[in-house]
Amino acid sequence: MQIYLDNAATTKIDKRVLKKMMPYFDTKYGNASSIHFMGQENDIKINQCKKDIAKILHGQADNIIFTSTATEANNLIIKGVMRANSDKGKHFLISAIEHPCVLASARELLDEGFRFDYIPVDKNGVVLLEELKKKIKPDTVLISVMAVNNEVGSIQPMEEIGKIARSKGVYFHTDAVQAVPYLKINIKKWGVDFLSLSAHKFYGPQGVGLAYVNKDVKIRPIIVGGGQENGLRAGTYNMAGIVGMTEALKLAYAERSEYLKKVKELRDYFWKEVAKKIKNIRLNGDLKNRVPNNLNIMFEGIEGEAILIDLSVSGIYVSTGSACSAQNLKVSSVITAMGIDKKYMNSNVRFSWGRYNNKKEVDYVVAKLAKTVERLRKFSPIR
Ligand code: PLP
Repeated sequence: MQIYLDNAATTKIDKRVLKKMMPYFDTKYGNASSIHFMGQENDIKINQCKKDIAKILHGQADNIIFTSTATEANNLIIKGVMRANSDKGKHFLISAIEHPCVLASARELLDEGFRFDYIPVDKNGVVLLEELKKKIKPDTVLISVMAVNNEVGSIQPMEEIGKIARSKGVYFHTDAVQAVPYLKINIKKWGVDFLSLSAHKFYGPQGVGLAYVNKDVKIRPIIVGGGQENGLRAGTYNMAGIVGMTEALKLAYAERSEYLKKVKELRDYFWKEVAKKIKNIRLNGDLKNRVPNNLNIMFEGIEGEAILIDLSVSGIYVSTGSACSAQNLKVSSVITAMGIDKKYMNSNVRFSWGRYNNKKEVDYVVAKLAKTVERLRKFSPIR
């Protein structure tokens, strides 16, 4: 038996999405940059995909740039905007709980004379708006705050941040990878200039994402070559991926309410049962202000990695927040930023539900988890 509770890491592609993609591996293989009919047919399809996506996101179709991943989109936006606007300023802000691809992009810019500050978060992993206001400097160019955190699922106050950014004349980027379909993304209402998405987080294919880029703002490309996407992202279009991402996004929002209800019921039932059966645990973040498919739980006295591996042996797939390897055990920067008690630090496990989970699986996982925790605690040197 395999039980997949790692839907925040990636999701299984929807069969309906796959079906839409198939012709682009087979008969519709024209290069969208070719001048002939077969190419132009695909170019028209790309533009239609942009229109469909823009409608869902409440943005403009010609602001969409297709990328290979959200990692690429975040690199393009952070580095591209800062480099192109260095005459305006060399300072930017990112939240203290960003994904490693935002952190690494920010750090890379330090070598080029740029500076950045972290916007702190509260104990539930939500950015502190007053701190954000205080950290804006006369030469701040960009604020980057994710819409939903990938580890603890906390939802960030997009509209408020957008208002602050506007009032200070600072550009606003959000990594909205974990927001589909949990939040109704609204580029206009949120006041964002830049946004990143990744198809594989919402039952689309891996290897395709997008960068939404306000075309009134200067940006320097990071991938140069054949001039696709108005010179902002060179490389042959991933036709099947783009078509798949568009279909997945449409389905995600068309079926949003029943999906949210389903994952929330599973998640809440799991939490109730776990809290009943396992002692000395705590929830990271607030149960209300988080996406309804996420739980991040600390198990006192045990390494999260040990739980993960034990569950994996039983065919149950979850994640920890921390990036670690056998040589290098690191505490999650998200959990650290939330100021969590040291005794719980490395013991967190993320459970993320999805479209294909069911209640029977929850019962099975709770029973296995209770046994795992009991067994590991017997060996624990820290209890
Ligand atoms: N940003 C967030 C919040 C994520 O959760 C992820 C994926 O884990 C990424 C960015 C990177 O996305 P991709 O896998 O498309 O590179």
